[in-house]
Amino acid sequence: MTNANPESPAAATPSNFLRDQIAEDVRTRKYGDAQIQTRFPPEPNGYLHIGHAKAICIDFGLADEFGGKTNLRFDDTNPGKEEQEYVDSIQADVRWLGFEWDRLCYASDYFPQLYEWAIQLIKAGKAYVDDLSADEIRQHRGTLTEPGQDSPYRNRTIEENLDLFTRMKQGEFSDGSRVLRAKIDMASPNINMRDPVMYRILHATHQRTGDEWCIYPMYDYAHGQSDSLERVTHSMCTLEFTDHQPLYRWFIEQLGIFPSQQIEFDRLNLTYTLLSKRKLLQLVNEKRVNGWDDPRMPTLSGIRRRGFTPEALRAFCASIGASRTNGTTDIEMLEHFQRDDLNRRARRAMAVLRPLKLVIDNYPEGQTEFFEVANNPEDPSAGTRQVPFSRELYIEQDDFREVPPPKYYRLSPGKEVRLRAAYLITAQSVVKDAAGNIVEVYCTYDPATRGGDAPDGRKVKSTIHWVSAAHAIGAEIRLYDKLFTKADPYDLEEGPEGQPGRDVLDNLNPNSIEIVIGAKLEPSLAKAQLGEHFQYERVGYFCLDPDSTPAHLVFNRTLPLKDSWARIEKTTSGGAAAR
Ligand code: ATP
Ligand code: MG
Repeated sequence: MTNANPESPAAATPSNFLRDQIAEDVRTRKYGDAQIQTRFPPEPNGYLHIGHAKAICIDFGLADEFGGKTNLRFDDTNPGKEEQEYVDSIQADVRWLGFEWDRLCYASDYFPQLYEWAIQLIKAGKAYVDDLSADEIRQHRGTLTEPGQDSPYRNRTIEENLDLFTRMKQGEFSDGSRVLRAKIDMASPNINMRDPVMYRILHATHQRTGDEWCIYPMYDYAHGQSDSLERVTHSMCTLEFTDHQPLYRWFIEQLGIFPSQQIEFDRLNLTYTLLSKRKLLQLVNEKRVNGWDDPRMPTLSGIRRRGFTPEALRAFCASIGASRTNGTTDIEMLEHFQRDDLNRRARRAMAVLRPLKLVIDNYPEGQTEFFEVANNPEDPSAGTRQVPFSRELYIEQDDFREVPPPKYYRLSPGKEVRLRAAYLITAQSVVKDAAGNIVEVYCTYDPATRGGDAPDGRKVKSTIHWVSAAHAIGAEIRLYDKLFTKADPYDLEEGPEGQPGRDVLDNLNPNSIEIVIGAKLEPSLAKAQLGEHFQYERVGYFCLDPDSTPAHLVFNRTLPLKDSWARIEKTTSGGAAAR
């Protein structure tokens, strides 16, 4: 099966060191005739987020470029934290992003082989059962500047180790009472090499293996061997595993198995965004958001519901590439790619979020006419639609000012503006309620300006959108803002009321969602489908939310129209971009 990545063919994407490394290994025939094999190895303990999208694009994208294959492997070695719901959502998200795995694998399928290899290491004098508690093991481990100390159990005989490890597996011992450790070097400058734990006792039911096992392998013992079993040639992971690489190699070398190669790249960090399943789970559990697919969440299911597209995410990932140092990417850059994509594909529509009634005095009562409007000026093949027009319309409250401030070119008494694709109108008078709020605006139209242009060539400074009151459909609109108030959500210097913040959640934006009830939409939006994208003229990009029913439509704002990335880019790259 091939992976969909039409817009970033190898030749067009900027090179990066991962691609260079693979190209070099192909050139030197490092793996002989074997094909390039990669894997994406999520732990099924939460939903995938935008950071995972980067890893997926790297793992699947690079294998695809080199004619190789990618496995989806669940790193399911932590019973208790892992659930089928996560397994299912991860598969759906990878496919949504446009990738298809070669084999679907589970680290738990390798438990019997990993156990056999542990026995082999014990027999070779390379592993031992330790009775120290977790705390004692930590105390013996030493520090970055001091070597560790040998455990008093380090020199058990092979027979005793075999006996104890077998009994660990048989369930004779309680959780935490013993572990199996690799016998490497307690004085190693790399703490990961100081006799790392390979197995722990955990009497827990595993979602796939049930109660078959009560000892579970640690990540470092499971990961490299799983790669090797799948004949993974390039095992790409994030930089925090760099110090684990010597251990990854050590197990493979001691066992003499297929030499998978780990290569580390930078983790994606985004401003105003938390990319950690553990923290995102906390947001869900504490009901700070409405579930994993809340459109404010940086999960793939959240941004999908919000209206983000796989094409935009892939283009974004291709553009950020990969490097060997961690950094932070502006969220505006992702939004820029999303706007770019939606600008091309989103069908235009007119929608008034905060309606103000506009009555055209000299327009015949009871008359309806239709204007043919392009569905997408960027894409003539999207066709046109008929938009009804009548004497009573809705416009945005913001598009009228009784007393216009300087440079306000929209509607005000005596001013002429264009109603998009319809007529030029001039405001005449207002009707106010008892409280003095403007509830209706009366205007006149010029019948000679049908389509929006005056035959005498006179110009207006503003074009505003509208919907016909009699034909409009009502909807609830959900507007989203950033979930965190700080570019670095972990910036806890100052919490609420000037107190030092204690938790990253203290930086949650209390105004990250605004619900607008009673918006008025052009009637064509009644047929909106889930997964369709719209640009509400002058307002932003929107999509239907699954909470919708035929009687109560709900739309999410994916993004407002304004592209602040373009501005950031301009100011940060000086005049270079402009020239
Ligand atoms: P989290 O910290 O959110 O729990 P994780 O690294 O524990 O993430 P895994 O399920 O272990 O999540 O990740 C699967 C793969 O995705 C790993 O190879 C990991 O390196 C990669 N990955 C996770 N987060 C990011 C990120 N922010 N940027 C790039 N790759 C990531
Ligand atoms: Mg993890």
